[in-house]
Amino acid sequence: MTLDAYQKKRNFTQTREPPGKVAKTGRQRFVVQEHHASQLHYDFRLEMGGVLKSWAIPKGPSLDPNAKRLAVQVEDHPVDYLLFEGEIAEGNYGAGRVVVWDTGAYTLEPADPLGAYADGKLSFVLNGDKLRGRFTLIQMKSRPKQWLLLKSRDQWAQEGWELEPILPQAKPGPARRMRSRKTSDVQPPAAVTPPRKKTPPVGKTPTRRATMSLSQFAHAGALEGDIHVHVDGQEVSLTHLDKLYWPQEGITKGDLLRYYARMAETILPYLQHRPLILKRYPDGIAASFFFQHDLPHAPDFVRTEILESHEERAIEYAVIDNTATLLYLTNLGTIEEHPWHSRVEDRDHPDWVVFDLDPEEAEFDVVCQVAQAVRRVLDEWGLSAYAKTSGSRGLHILVPIEPRYRYDETARFAEHVASRVARENPQTATVVRSLSRRKRGRVYVDHLQNAQGKTIVAPYSVRARVGATVSAPLDWREVKPGLNPGQFTLSTLPARLSAKGDLFKGVLAHSQNLDEALQQIERRARAVSSRPTVTRSP
Ligand code: MN
Repeated sequence: MTLDAYQKKRNFTQTREPPGKVAKTGRQRFVVQEHHASQLHYDFRLEMGGVLKSWAIPKGPSLDPNAKRLAVQVEDHPVDYLLFEGEIAEGNYGAGRVVVWDTGAYTLEPADPLGAYADGKLSFVLNGDKLRGRFTLIQMKSRPKQWLLLKSRDQWAQEGWELEPILPQAKPGPARRMRSRKTSDVQPPAAVTPPRKKTPPVGKTPTRRATMSLSQFAHAGALEGDIHVHVDGQEVSLTHLDKLYWPQEGITKGDLLRYYARMAETILPYLQHRPLILKRYPDGIAASFFFQHDLPHAPDFVRTEILESHEERAIEYAVIDNTATLLYLTNLGTIEEHPWHSRVEDRDHPDWVVFDLDPEEAEFDVVCQVAQAVRRVLDEWGLSAYAKTSGSRGLHILVPIEPRYRYDETARFAEHVASRVARENPQTATVVRSLSRRKRGRVYVDHLQNAQGKTIVAPYSVRARVGATVSAPLDWREVKPGLNPGQFTLSTLPARLSAKGDLFKGVLAHSQNLDEALQQIERRARAVSSRPTVTRSP
C-alpha cells in the first residue's frame, strides 16, 4: 500500500490537504466528501489497509435502490483525509471547496475488505448520518477504473431519494471554467450548455464573432477566439479555438475542429445511426478526460437515443448524424469518436466483426504479420476484411457483415478466428487475455470487443495521443513490415484521403454472409464434444 500517486499529484506547500502516511491501525471508517471542483462530485472513501480506497461519484451516492451510481476509482488517500475540509487553492489538483457530506463506520463480512476490493466486489453496511444500510460497489470488468455503487433493498432504502448538497452549487460559466483549467481531478459527465444564440440580448454590447460557412471554416488559416459555423441549417458555436490541445506539437482545438470539418463527409457514414460514448478532453490531451455516455441537455440538432446500456441504466446516448453534431461534440472536447458496432434501429445485430490487435510489447512489424494471418483465415471463408491503424500501436480489422447475426454469434466467430490464428502462429500471436500470463512479444488478438455497448475508435478519428495520430484505413498492401503508424496524423490524413480515396468504403458497402462460417464452427464444436471417450481395454 503506498500513497505515491496521491503525493505526486499534490504540492503540499500550496494545499492544506494532509501529506499523510500509510496508517497502521485497521479501523473501518468511511467518508463522503462533497467536492466543488470544476464539476461538483462526491468522493467516497473506505478505510482499509492503512489508506482510504477512494472513488469519485459524479452524481453522489444514493439511498434509492433503483439508482446505480458510477464510481470512478481514484488514487488511495491517506487516512487523515477522513477529516479534510476546506478550499483547495486555484492552480492545484482538484481545486475547489471540499466539505464532509457524511461520515461514519462500515462493516464488511467476512472481514477482508482488501480481498473484496481486489476481487472487484465490496458489499458493506454503512453506519453514517445520511448513508445507512447495505451497499455494493462492483467493478466493471471492461473498464476496471469504473465501479457501480448500488443500494440494497433494506429498511434504509428509499425509492425516489434525492441527494441534497451542503453548499450551493456554483453555476458553470466561463469564469469558473478558466479557474479550473488543468486542475480538476476526476470530472464527471457534465451538463452541456447549448450553443449561444447569434443575437445578443438587447442592451448588451454585441459580441464580435465571425460567422463562416463550413467550407470557409474547413479551409481557414489560423483560427482563434470563437467562431460561428453555418452548417446543416444550424449555427454551431465553436469556442476557444486557440486553446492548445496538443501542447508538445502546438496543435490547437481550432486545428482539430478544422480537421473534422474537412473530413466530415468521409467520417460521417461510419458514425451515423450509431450510439457513441464520448471521451472528453476539455483542456486537451495533457489534462484530464472523462467518459460521457449520457447527454441529456444537447441542442435540438444533436440526435440522442435513450438506450438500455450494458450498465443497465437508461441513458441518452449521442448519435452523430450530421456535421453540426460532429463539430458541436468536438467543441466540447471530444477528440475521439467511439461508435457502437450496431445501429440504433437494430441494436442487437452488429454490422461488422472486429479484431483488435494489441501489440503490448511487440514490434509493429509483428502486428502487421499477425494482421495478415487473420486476413488469410478469413479469406478461406471468402470473407473480405479491412484494416486500419488504431491510431496508437495496434491495428483494427473489420469484417463487414449483414446485420442479422446476434452479438453472441459474431463473438463466437471472432473467437474461433482469433484462436486459430494464435494456434497457427504461436511465436507471434496470442489470445491469452491476462497480461501476466501472456508470453512476451506476442500480439494479443483481442476478439472480446464483439459485444453490445463495446466500441472501437472510428476510422479517421483523431486520437488523444502524442503526435495527434489518426486511426487510418490501410490498403492491405501497406500492411507489412516497415509500416509506421505514426505517419498518419491530423495533418497528413486529408492529403492521404485525396490521394487514396476512402479505403474503408467497402466496410459500409460490402455486407457479407457468415452462415457458412458459423455452421462450420458449430459442426466442429459438435464433433469435438461427441468424440468417444477413450477407454482402456481390460
Ligand atoms: Mn474529488
